[in-house]
Amino acid sequence: MANSWINIFFVILVFSSLCYSCCCYSSYTIKNTCIIGSGIGGSSVAHFLRLYSTDSTISIQNIHMFERNEVVGGRMAMVKIGGDIFEAGASILHPKNLHTLNFTNFLNLHRNNDPTSSDSIDSDDSSFGIWDGSKFVFKTFDYNSNWSLVRKIVSVFNSFKLFFRYGFSLFKMEKFVQNAVGCFVKYYASFESRPVFETIEDMLKWAGLYNLTTRTLNEELVDAGLSPILISELVTVITRVNYGQSVSMSGLAGAVSLAGSGGGLWSVKGGNWQMAAGLINSSNVALHLNEEIDSISYFGDHYELNSTKGNSYSCDVTVVATPLDEVNIRFSPPISVPDRNLQHTHTTFVRGLVNPAYFSLNSVSEIPELVGTVEAANIPFSCISVLERYSEQDMTYKVFSRAEMEESLLDQIFSVRKETIRINWGAYPHYKAPEVFAPILLDRSHLYYVNAFENAASTMETSAVAAENVARLILSRFSGQTVSILKSSASNEKGLHIDL
Ligand SMILES: Cc1cc2nc3c(=O)[nH]c(=O)nc-3n(C[C@H](O)[C@H](O)[C@H](O)COP(=O)(O)OP(=O)(O)OC[C@H]3O[C@@H](n4cnc5c(N)ncnc54)[C@H](O)[C@@H]3O)c2cc1C
Repeated sequence: MANSWINIFFVILVFSSLCYSCCCYSSYTIKNTCIIGSGIGGSSVAHFLRLYSTDSTISIQNIHMFERNEVVGGRMAMVKIGGDIFEAGASILHPKNLHTLNFTNFLNLHRNNDPTSSDSIDSDDSSFGIWDGSKFVFKTFDYNSNWSLVRKIVSVFNSFKLFFRYGFSLFKMEKFVQNAVGCFVKYYASFESRPVFETIEDMLKWAGLYNLTTRTLNEELVDAGLSPILISELVTVITRVNYGQSVSMSGLAGAVSLAGSGGGLWSVKGGNWQMAAGLINSSNVALHLNEEIDSISYFGDHYELNSTKGNSYSCDVTVVATPLDEVNIRFSPPISVPDRNLQHTHTTFVRGLVNPAYFSLNSVSEIPELVGTVEAANIPFSCISVLERYSEQDMTYKVFSRAEMEESLLDQIFSVRKETIRINWGAYPHYKAPEVFAPILLDRSHLYYVNAFENAASTMETSAVAAENVARLILSRFSGQTVSILKSSASNEKGLHIDL
């Protein structure tokens, strides 16, 4: 008898402890998550939601992704010219871009980090010059050889040339960039030491990057002791190549831009867009191509998304993974985001031959493969680079400019033009310090904005970093719990640890 009482007592104890764990660790189901945009931001949100919910008590059922174009990838896109395919938008990644590195490994994609790649502006043997509108103020020595030793010697010679012009300021520039990269890699820290962020300001302050968004790149570099000539020439060339903007841009975007001109840059063989495509495929996403969302209405317990096709979708969570600056989505109730201008980068691809006379030179071989430019009103382009050299008379070029390249202008710059393709990108924010950030949480419920982070910097990796935080934020807010619930799944994430 005493035994059966003990048994009953034990059963009650187990049952009540089960109940306790039920009420404290109940499972959560997010039935419909809707993501607007299939670029690296949207596809990363889907990936991280699936990854982080695997081991947690939160279940993500359906993920719907809406893309107004007929292909995925957004600003990661390809262009076909002269029978060859090139990156038309985002082309280079930094060696410490750990999410995108991880994506390529996870998706079995191959990387293209051949130093002779035309995608890489740090190529050892590709020549480089700085054009001031009337002359080249700096030009590397160009000697193409099949011998790697000769190429190395040329490269060392060019390093001396660079040092001779800009001196020790070059090391100060490198240190400035290293400091910023050193702060940025904190976003790869484990969940135990990295909070979930509700605002971009908190996210940047935590990493020690916020102050860089409050001052211009020029102010930062002057304080870092860089010489005026380095800032007005080499640094300006880099900010114009990477963001089409001057050193008046905010310091953090400027630092990211400078980091994008260092060594070890890479891209995905066959196109960076494959990262988005792969993540979407592997995340069990219902992809709605050619479907533009034109309104998002909140009804207390769900969002209703309406598309230009006349379809309606009911969503528990809605993630906006596109810049809101140039799209027409109506929100009900209305949302508030600060005004932001996008920098338009006109990308012109030309198969043909550049005209040496335009640069007051005698032969094409004297024109550097990458022509960078300083800030001068009379220069109508930011840079011209050779993408592919078919012969000495036949090449494919990429031109970046702030305004459309008129036919007459192209006829001056190119002596031969067999094919011309123009793309007008609403490319990235026009950066100005101090930056004002849009909220990540667009309402008090479950409407999230990945591209609020773009005011800090706009790159494939920063989109992935912002997306990862949004995925964590969704899971933690839905469950009413914070980091701890995500701990177990964090440990599944491999390859994200590097020395800080
Ligand atoms: C010319 C150029 C060069 C660049 N170079 C680099 C580089 O070398 N390295 C680098 O890291 N970054 C570079 N960038 C920046 C990089 O491309 C972006 O930061 C990044 O790709 C942004 O990704 P995202 O997913 O946030 O946005 P996007 O790629 O813009 O994706 C948003 C998607 O949402 C879709 N969409 C918009 N509105 C709607 C709607 N209402 N309904 C449905 N779909 C909608 C769009 O069609 C788009 O596909 C470059 C950008 C440009 C334009």
